Amino acid sequence: MSVLELARAEIRALVPYSSARMEAAGGQLLLNANESAWAPFGDAGLDCHRYPDPQPAALVERLAALYGVRREQLLVGRGSDEAIDLLVRAFCRAGKDAILVQPPTFGMYAVCARVQDAAVVEVPLSVDFTVDAGAVLAAVTPAVKLVFVCAPNNPTGAGVSPETIERLARGLAGRALLVVDEAYAEFAEDAGAAALLDRYEHLAVLRTLSKAWALAGARIGCLLAHADVIALLRRILPPYPLPRPCVAAAMEALSPQGQAAAHERIEVVCTERTQMTSALRRLPGVRAVLPSQANFLAVRFDDVGAVYRRLFDAGIVVRDVRRYPGLGDALRITLGTPEENARVLAVLGEGA
Ligand code: PMP
Repeated sequence: MSVLELARAEIRALVPYSSARMEAAGGQLLLNANESAWAPFGDAGLDCHRYPDPQPAALVERLAALYGVRREQLLVGRGSDEAIDLLVRAFCRAGKDAILVQPPTFGMYAVCARVQDAAVVEVPLSVDFTVDAGAVLAAVTPAVKLVFVCAPNNPTGAGVSPETIERLARGLAGRALLVVDEAYAEFAEDAGAAALLDRYEHLAVLRTLSKAWALAGARIGCLLAHADVIALLRRILPPYPLPRPCVAAAMEALSPQGQAAAHERIEVVCTERTQMTSALRRLPGVRAVLPSQANFLAVRFDDVGAVYRRLFDAGIVVRDVRRYPGLGDALRITLGTPEENARVLAVLGEGA
């Protein structure tokens, strides 16, 4: 089955909304979108009185170059969260189809599926939190349209080997769309899966500017996939999803100076990750620090409740991941600046 045939027939047949900005290409006097003719107070040259381009060409071009794909293989939206939602809505029929996830993993895949009334097939990660590709492939029934792999995984931080990704891509070809979520890929050793897109049409990759690019507040995320999938999802993307100030912030962050700054920050995070991992492992009360390929650490404690409270009382909020299977004694701690990480260590050290 081609990747397009996996998608819902009614989405393939949908006549999409045609936004005014799509009609206006090349126009000089724009009187087709009921906008204000005047810029708002304090506009700073952003032209916020105009609707933005639904897929700003300059941003799409820059992101495509960054990820090494063609423009028609890329959709940009409001964070990778929006891409997850679009995929589920385009591929899963309510009450009939399913997605496959591997707990403990990022919660939005299952939430989007439930909103769409799609089933959620769970194939837990192995005890060491690696992906069990054989078990995943064995669990894919015809109802499963999307298989999510989080690489590196949130909340464990574990990377997924390129061999595993490729084995899944090969095994799912013609059966389901493999969605590799690479929100944390910039912090990982392995190159991402985008390079495989030309070989596997049933592959999609999620990327985001929220983590390594320091733009969580601008909500810019991408889906990289076969051009047919991108064209399909562009039809259901709400009109004008990307606010002009967010696009401007992304263009700045992706400029040559912005890229240099991002790479410096990534290096700092990776160095901090190594140092924090060793420092935490030396602290009494710490059972384990899971090896991480991301910008956070999952840490197991003897008395996780007391540690959470101690950090909280010191004004430090970390993610309580105790509800995740296999992580009942763990907290997920985002790596901050060296000073912030030193504060975490000091508070944990005091109570030891
Ligand atoms: N995927 C993973 C694995 C994440 O951890 C997150 C953010 N927590 C997202 C996707 C969503 O990121 P965003 O919508 O900001 O791009």
